[in-house]
Amino acid sequence: MPQSLKSLLLPLLFLLLALPSAVAQPMTPAAATETAAVPATAAATTVAAPIGAATAPTVSAAPFNVEAATQAYLNTLTPAQKAKSDAYFEGGYWLQVFELLYTLGVAAVFLRLGLGRWLQARTQRLPRPGLRTLAFAAGYLLLAWALSLPLDIYEGYVREHAYGMSNQTFGEWFGENLTSLGLSVVFGSLVILAFYAAVRRAGRSWWAWGTGLAAVFLVVGIFAGPVLISPLFNKSTPLPAGPIRAAILSMARANGVPADNVYLVDASRQTKRISANVSGIGSTIRVSLNDNLLNRCTPQEVQAVMGHELGHYVLNHIQKLLVFFSLIIGLSLWLVDWAFRRLTVRYGAAWGITDLGDVAGLPLALALFSVFMFLATPVRNTIIRTNEQEADMFGLNAARQPDAFASTAMKLSEYRKIDPSPLEEAIFYDHPSGHTRVLSAMRWKAEHLNGQ
Ligand SMILES: [Zn+2]
Repeated sequence: MPQSLKSLLLPLLFLLLALPSAVAQPMTPAAATETAAVPATAAATTVAAPIGAATAPTVSAAPFNVEAATQAYLNTLTPAQKAKSDAYFEGGYWLQVFELLYTLGVAAVFLRLGLGRWLQARTQRLPRPGLRTLAFAAGYLLLAWALSLPLDIYEGYVREHAYGMSNQTFGEWFGENLTSLGLSVVFGSLVILAFYAAVRRAGRSWWAWGTGLAAVFLVVGIFAGPVLISPLFNKSTPLPAGPIRAAILSMARANGVPADNVYLVDASRQTKRISANVSGIGSTIRVSLNDNLLNRCTPQEVQAVMGHELGHYVLNHIQKLLVFFSLIIGLSLWLVDWAFRRLTVRYGAAWGITDLGDVAGLPLALALFSVFMFLATPVRNTIIRTNEQEADMFGLNAARQPDAFASTAMKLSEYRKIDPSPLEEAIFYDHPSGHTRVLSAMRWKAEHLNGQ
């Protein structure tokens, strides 16, 4: 789905970030708590044949030096690989700014160039207010999708191919984009209808009711993600039998995760990225690893990643993110209310908007929402990154594979800049950087295995 729409509606729209396209854009709220890495076989669990330890890059002998061991891992990246990865990730910073500007441009087409009035004239003849709102919302989502398509093609297809991340033809990519559009129009229109019902019934306190609605939609979306939405894009199968499955299930049992909740996803249909995640909630919660991970990583590395994912599961990260994101959405809605009233006093007549209950103001309300969500980016990233760091530590303890964890962190540098400044990491990173992860792993290795 279009990135601009994503940043606008995704938190509300059934967490489409859990979709395959999102494998590429892990800024998702609760839907998918993405990759990191740490294996599991806890020493106490003896059911599975243990997978041996991974080997580290050669460092000089003598006492184990955490900094030197970390640097030895970072040095495994060639200058060319590092330059490419830095360029890809830093380009993402500018894309976020450009997406926001693009979203504001789309809003201007509706408000200043009259596309909103045109759409309203066509939907006003419907008999009931609810139908008029629904039709306007669906029309808006379709038109905004079309207007955002150039940016979406660049970001989702052209750029991914330029950096060698994508496995899709344009037809495949576009077909999935249309599926996302269908979901967005059907469910997004209903979500918007519910919000306008709250505005009309609750008046000034609509944003509080809206926050409750958002929380409910998030729960429903997260619940439906793995069973109704993901299957539209990918196939999930139980992990094939073998030593890797045995080690993962053993680690799962040792940490109280039901063993039938571990799945393999055919993400190589879309991307070359290695990834894994926890998705769903309640009876649909599951840990998934993608086939790239299984094909491109050693058994120790797979174990390291799955230890991390089990950490998300055991530490209830999805539930916690749900609470945090509901609060962020609530604050954003309150700010939308505040800004919308001020802007319509001044520009309402020119933009053809009377008040917040008037669906013609939808493009403005969504543009304001995306501005506040954009401003909250460092907060959102820090909340997610903190969870990711917790899962990293859980995974190190569960899998006891610090070298495999470190080498996987290096592999993730394909799409995540390996060694940012601390401020850069705090603002832009929704996962710990490769440097942070390798350092954590080497420190763990020094303290638990005496560096052996
Ligand atoms: Zn994670």
